[in-house]
Amino acid sequence: MDTLKMNNASAYTKPLPRPDPELKPFWDFARLGQFAAQRCRDCAHVHFPPGPVCPACLSSSQEWFATSGRGTLFSWVAFHHPYWDCVKPALPYNVVMVQLEEGPLIASNLVDENLQGLKLGMAVEAVFEAIPGDMYLPKFKLRAR
Ligand SMILES: [Zn+2]
Repeated sequence: MDTLKMNNASAYTKPLPRPDPELKPFWDFARLGQFAAQRCRDCAHVHFPPGPVCPACLSSSQEWFATSGRGTLFSWVAFHHPYWDCVKPALPYNVVMVQLEEGPLIASNLVDENLQGLKLGMAVEAVFEAIPGDMYLPKFKLRAR
């Protein structure tokens, strides 16, 4: 598991995830350092976020699986304005869109602080930040090709 270690978990000031039962498998995989997605047992379509039916064929036969955690940089933006008080200490922070090798687009953060030099299609991989409550937030880091 590639997990970021926080120096002081009590210093975490952002809202904590409140997983509903449908998302429990995702957080269980994250605890193991794996980025999970749903796959349709009928047509093999891979999707995230999860849902009760396949968005491609509407089958209700879905399974969770660990993706490779690898993907490519699809888009990114740097936030300089604090839309929420809890993010003020992190300004400027980034939000990235990553396309997993398995297909789904994921909104997350890039842990690499310097956004200079980013290029579309750069290789990234999931890492997991430990937060209070024995939870692990998936983020991404640049990956050497
Ligand atoms: Zn399907």
